[in-house]
Amino acid sequence: MTANERAVGGSDRRKRRAKKQGRAGHEPQPTESPSERELAAGERGRVVAHHGVAVLVRFDAGGERQIWLTPEQRAVAGDLVVVVGDRLIVLPATGILRRMDARGRERTIAVNLDLLGIVIALDPREPPGYIDRGFLIARSAGIEPIVILNKTDLAGAGELARRLDEIYGESAPVLRVCAKTSEGIAAIPEALAGGKLGALVGPSGVGKSSLLNALVPDLDLRVSELNRGSHKGRHTTTTATVHDLSGGGLLIDTAGFKDFIAADVEPGEAAIFFPGFEGLLKDGCRFRDCLHRSEPGCGVLAALSSGQIPETRHRAYLQILDELAAPKKGRR
Ligand code: GDP
Ligand code: ZN
Repeated sequence: MTANERAVGGSDRRKRRAKKQGRAGHEPQPTESPSERELAAGERGRVVAHHGVAVLVRFDAGGERQIWLTPEQRAVAGDLVVVVGDRLIVLPATGILRRMDARGRERTIAVNLDLLGIVIALDPREPPGYIDRGFLIARSAGIEPIVILNKTDLAGAGELARRLDEIYGESAPVLRVCAKTSEGIAAIPEALAGGKLGALVGPSGVGKSSLLNALVPDLDLRVSELNRGSHKGRHTTTTATVHDLSGGGLLIDTAGFKDFIAADVEPGEAAIFFPGFEGLLKDGCRFRDCLHRSEPGCGVLAALSSGQIPETRHRAYLQILDELAAPKKGRR
């Protein structure tokens, strides 16, 4: 929890946070809560792949096994579990990454994430506001964002890297990598050292798969292994897979997760988590729920008029606020 987050506090925020951390859309888990004895007797592990009707669990003690889900049971990649016989007990999760599906329903893609790598490139460029929304989604879910500029071999990438440093350098690490030559990619496992779980998101074509292939040498092998184990006769899709990296980190391959469609972010969260505003909020705004629009005594607006933050950043923030305030398509 950051100082800023603490400063805002308030019961509404706590309620919302509780709702988020309560796996909304992931519940209910109708099974009775497991007893201490059951938990102690089971094998602990993590869900490393999801096949619709079953999950692949990698056990802490070694080995992997496919476990069927009961019809009501929900589990996703990253879930920490205890397996008792054939029964799966899903432990409470944090660091929840969601997206909106085609029908406008929120879907959980992965949980227990520590780090979200927002991958971008000079070509194709991301839509306006993409990185900022990534920061907001990550931070509001308690996940640490980092910026990963891929394709540093492209002419002009250096200039983009400098601009990214300028905008985001104070807020998060800005990694420069090249999947093609492997230059700089070691920084990704380093950021995940000590068993952290990370995911890469980014627009289609920026090189997420290429980075994964460069970081997980046996990826093809692993993918074909998983397919063989999947349930036949039913349409199943692997939505995400957890890969072990050398150095102890874990990286989730979030196949098909192209955009941050689920803006599971409240305007008040945008106001405290927007990248670049962190330092300005230390001395604070007069109002605890200040949205930095036109409120008197606003620290962000003061920084804007003194030239401490560029107008482009405040405009980018207002644009996102407007998007968040607009009615969400298909949400109900
Ligand atoms: P994804 O959609 O984000 O998974 O992107 P892919 O990994 O499929 O890559 C999209 C395209 O970018 C492919 O043609 C890759 O060969 C290319 N690409 C990926 N990484 C690099 C890189 O570091 N440099 C260059 N020049 N091209 C890259
Ligand atoms: Zn303010």
